[in-house]
Amino acid sequence: TLNKTIPLDQIHYDEKGLVPSIVQDYLDGTVLMMAWMNRESLEKTLETGETWFWSRSRKELWHKGETSGHLQKVKSMRYDCDSDALLVSVEQVGDIACHTGERSCFHQVDGKINPPPADTLSQVFQVICDRRDNPSEDSYTCKLFKGGDNKILKKIGEESAEVVMAFKDDEPDEIAGEVADLLYHTLVALAHHQVDIKAVYRKLQERRK
Ligand code: AMP
Ligand code: ZN
Ligand code: ZN
Ligand code: ZN
Repeated sequence: TLNKTIPLDQIHYDEKGLVPSIVQDYLDGTVLMMAWMNRESLEKTLETGETWFWSRSRKELWHKGETSGHLQKVKSMRYDCDSDALLVSVEQVGDIACHTGERSCFHQVDGKINPPPADTLSQVFQVICDRRDNPSEDSYTCKLFKGGDNKILKKIGEESAEVVMAFKDDEPDEIAGEVADLLYHTLVALAHHQVDIKAVYRKLQERRK
């Protein structure tokens, strides 16, 4: 199926025969890495459904994950407006794309480890998990964790009722606010029960088929 997604001959390879390829996580959109493909590695990627690149330093085809085990299973592929860049959506085996052991190659800001942005829900979930693991006194999220299931699940019940009322009122801004409240409290419950938001995303993707 992948074979038909990229017309090998229409891609504009540069003077060295290479095309930059951005790899992103298919679940939360995180940019994982950038590497170079040539026609042959692109062909192998389309054939095998796993990413192949051209290593400029080693001057050889490179099957990502061959030694580390961190293979990338291609979910979809596209090219940009002028056909000189590729975007590859992958399921990242081991959830690590960088040879440093970090999830993403784009993990540094000012020399400090700082993961790149993902989608908004994932970012909020990350903050919630940080509150869970590093509690502080005056944080509402920390108070929810302290109250445990009693407090958290009661809030989900209340917020669900508010969502229903908001839809009945049919006010877009109220609907958005109440759905945000419900999502936030649901994320707190997920964190409290040690369920990663990516497990939820995976279910949604599975049900799409
Ligand atoms: P791997 O393909 O993960 O088995 O790694 C093999 C080698 O490829 C590593 O030792 C690195 O030299 C290189 N490598 C792996 N992942 C990356 C990456 N995300 N960016 C650049 N080089 C990489
Ligand atoms: Zn372009
Ligand atoms: Zn890296
Ligand atoms: Zn509410």
